[in-house]
Amino acid sequence: MIPPVRIGVALPNYGPLARPPPGRVQVAPGGRGARCIGGSHASKTVVMENGARTSYHVCPLCEATCGLEIRTRGREVTGIRGDEADVFSQGFICPKAYALKELDADPDRLRVPLVRRGGVLAPATWDEAFAEIDRRLGPILREHGRDAVAVYLGNPSAHSMAIGLYAQVLLRALGTRNVFSASTVDQMPKQVAAGLMFGTVLSIPVPDLDRTDYLLILGANPFVSNGSLMTAPDVPGRLRAIRRRGGKVVVIDPRRTRTAAEASAHHFIRPGTDACLLFGIVHTLFAEGLVRLGPLAPHVAGVEQVEALARPFTPEAVTPCCGIDANVVRGLARELAGASRAAVYARIGTCTQEFGTLASWLVDVVNVLTGHLDQVGGAMFAKGASGSANTRGTPGRGKGVRFGRRTSRVRQAPEVYGELPAACLAEEIETPGEGQVRALITIAGNPALSTPNGARLERALAALDLMVSLDIYVNETTRHADVILPGLSPIEQSHYDLALRQLAIRNVATYSLPVFDPPADFVTRQRVEHEVASPASPIHGRDAAEIMAALAPRRGPERLLDLMLRTGPYGDAFGANPDGLGLAALEAKPHGIDLGPLAPRIPEVLRTPSGKIELAPEPLVADVARLRAALERPGSPMVLIGRRDLRSNNSWMHNLGVLVKGNPRCTMHVHRADAERLGLADGGRARVVSRAGAIEVPVEVTEAIMPGVVSIPHGWGHDEPDVRLRIATAHAGVNSNRLADEHALDPLSGNAVLNGIPVTVERAS
Ligand code: SF4
Repeated sequence: MIPPVRIGVALPNYGPLARPPPGRVQVAPGGRGARCIGGSHASKTVVMENGARTSYHVCPLCEATCGLEIRTRGREVTGIRGDEADVFSQGFICPKAYALKELDADPDRLRVPLVRRGGVLAPATWDEAFAEIDRRLGPILREHGRDAVAVYLGNPSAHSMAIGLYAQVLLRALGTRNVFSASTVDQMPKQVAAGLMFGTVLSIPVPDLDRTDYLLILGANPFVSNGSLMTAPDVPGRLRAIRRRGGKVVVIDPRRTRTAAEASAHHFIRPGTDACLLFGIVHTLFAEGLVRLGPLAPHVAGVEQVEALARPFTPEAVTPCCGIDANVVRGLARELAGASRAAVYARIGTCTQEFGTLASWLVDVVNVLTGHLDQVGGAMFAKGASGSANTRGTPGRGKGVRFGRRTSRVRQAPEVYGELPAACLAEEIETPGEGQVRALITIAGNPALSTPNGARLERALAALDLMVSLDIYVNETTRHADVILPGLSPIEQSHYDLALRQLAIRNVATYSLPVFDPPADFVTRQRVEHEVASPASPIHGRDAAEIMAALAPRRGPERLLDLMLRTGPYGDAFGANPDGLGLAALEAKPHGIDLGPLAPRIPEVLRTPSGKIELAPEPLVADVARLRAALERPGSPMVLIGRRDLRSNNSWMHNLGVLVKGNPRCTMHVHRADAERLGLADGGRARVVSRAGAIEVPVEVTEAIMPGVVSIPHGWGHDEPDVRLRIATAHAGVNSNRLADEHALDPLSGNAVLNGIPVTVERAS
């Protein structure tokens, strides 16, 4: 019999359930006359005479990790600005950071659990919520097995230290194979390519922005996103600096984005064809004798295979596919090869497409062939202080990565890094039979808006026997839940960017204490302490009990973080490296610790079984035939792509007035020529139809988009019944993922195709 799983075991992952360590800076009760009652953390917070305080906290809203200076009085935020002393961001912030004040005070943000009673989500105590989960989850597990429970992790999970540390606890406790996340509607192709080439999931090279002379950007708009899989505050400033120092920035994108507008050159590309363009560049490098591996040469395997694979992709052959002139393709290859410091960087547009993994792979193939991988000013590997798979084990060699160890039940989609494609979730709920998903746990996710064919998924969610959500809102997904367990405001939580520091353009470590204490009645159950014992093998030659004693009296996430830092690449190794880092060292530096610019790491960073950079991994080689076939394929007359806005980040920031005010941003961009042909007027409405669904959306006519392409941002559509988002509902927009086809996947990564969706467009009647 399967033992019952208490969901409470994993709850501390959703907030700082640990009590603050002794010595924290706190405001004494009684308003005026606040005083510092702490000791060791005093440098984090400046307390003024009148009770005003200034705290420092890393912004957790996007990947840029800007330092914030947050002024408060009592429990109110009175001001937010960039922390000029932050070692990485040096005062830079974007408009989203100001919204933290509104998010913290948002009356729609859940502060107590909700339990469905009589069909309505009603406030409940934590004990009542846990009891409801126990009452309903146990029988499902006993009767239908562990796979009957699925888990979906949303994007904010990557920005939460607590979730990052404890999500695995929940997954291990549940033991389900049905694990889904936002990774397969986002960056999974890059992680697959990196794993196959370099040996671990986060061995993703990032452009050395501050020292490069030439940057080729594909499918990314860092002027508004501030970078992704590339952690760097003030990317706009850093890109402008490249041009100021005489360098060049070239953008390839179906839209003339803000990044493209400020670049040295911009070329439109047909959505979904980046892999063809990149193969055209690779072909040119070989054909013109421009391949220069430099110091990488002894560490690269598969160069001849890549040369053979690239043969059919002549610039003339790829031009009809990608829409970029053959001479431009050749010119890009020559410029990359000729620049002393250059990098290729690609992101969301190249990942969320049918050839996402091939495109992600070819980006780094070009970086290797031009000799720019792992070179100063090229594409380099960060080394995060909390350590990662490429800092553990034997330097220069490892087990590599394996995929497809099992498949999804219904369509046999292979697992990738233990996950199944998010696009499979609805069918796993709907399709009867052994292993059918009957219960779902969502963690900080809104798959109803973020994953393909949102309408189908919503119908599936409504049919679940049990749904439990850990979330701060009743949104389009959690409105279907039977129990919602609230999280904390970002500034009620301590913070350390576990994943993003592995992707930063400079090695930096910053730890933030909570600005405010969590509410006194917020659940503080210490049910995960046993997890700290998991590294109970000797560490740095020291006995586990000795290590545990050294970590005391820390609790919860801080205890784990301290362990990771001290055993990480800069760590004090529990005394073996007396000048090394631990959490105490970070606590003493509220503006972060600069660990220096990126440094070459090959071969030490590699964890492939061969100990080489695998330039031609077998799964990628096998997929090239599919791309070759696409060279001959006629393109769809009209395709849909997404769009990012500076004041939005997926769906969850739309309930903040400061971010949604002004002109509606959920509009369809269409080229003037297409608008005239289709009878669309600026400000009018269009009906957009795909295989998966149809939506109506306001029209914006522009010449900043390629003819034959329309663009609608995702994350909107907040007018569903029972959603409790008052501001978002007033700015509802429409869910563009209703047009995304849940059957269209990049086969290697399971990533959904969200760019290049074939659509028809007509004037709405
Ligand atoms: S760029 Fe990102 S991290 Fe920086 S302030 Fe804006 S949302 Fe926060």
